Amino acid sequence: MSHQALTGILDTVVVQARYSSDSARNGILRAALFDAWDRRCYFCRRWYDVAVMEIDHLIPRSYRQNSKRLKKTLLECLPVELAELPFDIDAPHNLAPICRDCNNDKRDDSFEGSMKFTRLLEKARKREPEVVKLFRAFEDKHDLAKALLTVTVAEIADSKAKETLMEFGSLMVNRLRVVAPDVLETPSDYPLDDPSGDQMHHVIVTLNQPGRRAQVILEDVYGCDFDDALRYPGRAVVNAINDQLRLSMHSYLFQGGEADADIESPSGRVVVEVAELAYVSPEEFRLSGRFEADGASVAAIHASTDSGTAWVQVDATAAGAFELYFAPDDEDVDPGTVSLTTTDSDTWCDDPLWKEESDYGDDFDWEGECRRT
Ligand SMILES: [Zn+2]
Repeated sequence: MSHQALTGILDTVVVQARYSSDSARNGILRAALFDAWDRRCYFCRRWYDVAVMEIDHLIPRSYRQNSKRLKKTLLECLPVELAELPFDIDAPHNLAPICRDCNNDKRDDSFEGSMKFTRLLEKARKREPEVVKLFRAFEDKHDLAKALLTVTVAEIADSKAKETLMEFGSLMVNRLRVVAPDVLETPSDYPLDDPSGDQMHHVIVTLNQPGRRAQVILEDVYGCDFDDALRYPGRAVVNAINDQLRLSMHSYLFQGGEADADIESPSGRVVVEVAELAYVSPEEFRLSGRFEADGASVAAIHASTDSGTAWVQVDATAAGAFELYFAPDDEDVDPGTVSLTTTDSDTWCDDPLWKEESDYGDDFDWEGECRRT
């Protein structure tokens, strides 16, 4: 195949999988983005029905009018090798699925200039091939796939549509039970009340067969309310994750020369996905799965040469796996018993008061900047 022909194909692919004025296309793109981004809102990380998801432009569409401003933003917030790649505001490397609530809350400059924004653009770039692949798969499939996709992204606002879905739903479930029982095994997601009272924390429970058995044991043998039974271990996991975020903030500031910063408990999002709930013994159940968290804390930094104290915001993210054993009647599960395996983490401070130097240590100088209070 000639280079030109190949470029032609690539162009078509890129042109197709992008935000446009074609609502059918955007529907397919929405489903592809949703799937590639773990079927969640990228902003609040909650799981939703795809029908309430929207497509968000990380760098706002208004930048299309101003290529200089766009270039400047890209250079500011991306590493050079990414900033120099061709950038298309409407391509998947600038798109992410967002829920309606977050889209309404979010302002164009919600992220501007922050490390979080850099991470998001990097993430979108990384996920782009998957989005393109899914987009093509959805679009290329025959009529059945198109019909299913229509159902998947359909607005179920009007009662007729809902009625139809429910009628055909049970037929479809029967069909799946015969041809693809696995599909019915997977996500029966169980959103749990937020354990800490903080809207941003979620414990999402997906029960497989042993998990459903454990649920029955908890309910029938121990007489527990299932939500209650998971609330305490769930809270312990969330607390353990927050402790870990705080610890990484500590070591970040420590590396920057601040040995004893007081760091408040982080606020932000913790999503705990329970993949396995198992009955181990009469005293013990095991809970395990994945987690993802990002938090921001205020750290009090004490200047050594004068009595001033400055407060800076520190951010941290972490993702990985967790496991804990809990007793069904324990209302005070110790976060110290949660074992966390972090596979991905990051800590940073955007605060101009915290003058982060690329080479920490000797050249580090912030005292002059920190005379506040
Ligand atoms: Zn959201």
